[in-house]
Amino acid sequence: DLYNTVQDLKGNIRVYCRIRPLFDAGEGSAVDFIGDDGSLVVVDPLKPHREARKIFHFNRVFGPIATQEEVFKDTQPLIRSVMDGYNVCIFAYGQTGSGKTHTMCGPSGGTSNDAGINHLALNDLFHISCSRKDLMNYVVEVQMVEVYNEQVRDLLTDDFSAAKLEIRNCTSNGESSIPDAKTYVVNSTVDVLNLMKLGEMNRVACSTAMNNQSSRSHSILTVHVRGKDSTGNTIRSCLHLVDLAGSERVDKSEVTGDRLKEAQYINRSLSCLGDVIAALAQKNSHIPYRNSKLTQILQSSLGGHAKTLMIAHISPEAVSYGETLSTLKFAQRVS
Ligand code: ADP
Ligand code: MG
Repeated sequence: DLYNTVQDLKGNIRVYCRIRPLFDAGEGSAVDFIGDDGSLVVVDPLKPHREARKIFHFNRVFGPIATQEEVFKDTQPLIRSVMDGYNVCIFAYGQTGSGKTHTMCGPSGGTSNDAGINHLALNDLFHISCSRKDLMNYVVEVQMVEVYNEQVRDLLTDDFSAAKLEIRNCTSNGESSIPDAKTYVVNSTVDVLNLMKLGEMNRVACSTAMNNQSSRSHSILTVHVRGKDSTGNTIRSCLHLVDLAGSERVDKSEVTGDRLKEAQYINRSLSCLGDVIAALAQKNSHIPYRNSKLTQILQSSLGGHAKTLMIAHISPEAVSYGETLSTLKFAQRVS
């Protein structure tokens, strides 16, 4: 299987880059060239003749006209892996406004033909479950949490007092790392979409109450799969679908107090995530999972036999060029 061969060579980590369309077609774009081989050349749109062009390499680069289906097509083998017993983590990285939620959940208030990875992945998962029903009996369960300021909050409960969840030490056997988060058995994509809606409403309600924006937290949708065949053999695996907090650096001279604390938590947890994936990519013996809640929660799907996909998102506008470079550097470091 070609995909698995590539995966083995890459230590099971893949990195894609996706560039969203320019909001204002009249503006210059930072994207100079996209190669079929996963190369991407960027340049500051305000100084295209003076500044050096910079080249980056990824497993794939999706330009502004790439469709949701195209992005999903390259993700699809991972969903099959989940049904075969592998843990998988797919996450969207990038500054606020770069298209993370668009990729994972689809456009806000979106039409179903622009469905995001979450939706398409679950469709596939249930499709595989159905097509194997004579061989395997699958049970699918879902949890949804967010990490905000290094606290884990259940998004599928309306009991906000039960909010702060503990993380269990890593289990490689597919058990949840957050045993107390509410868990729902689901039988169809529609079931999951309804839970995601509830989760998103709770997320917005909570962040409004706390006077922050939901893009300042990491949201994690976890799909647990258990399968049993007729001879009694079982598999257990999980799929983490993660919409990360915006990666933008805030200017310390402009924010203070809670906003500064929030920004520092985000920076720290994203750099911990980068450290973990870079350590895995370099096959280091020590992987610093314990440095953040995010990496503790995702531990079973980062490293070992797990398969990890990071989709780095960039905004092509000139005003975002600095953030674009830091996103590309972050992504390059782990690929
Ligand atoms: P983020 O979650 O990174 O903050 P969003 O997903 O909310 O960013 O995207 C910002 C805006 O850009 C949204 O209005 C979204 O619908 C739009 N957008 C993002 N990516 C695309 C894309 N590939 N095609 C069309 N519109 C996009
Ligand atoms: Mg978002």
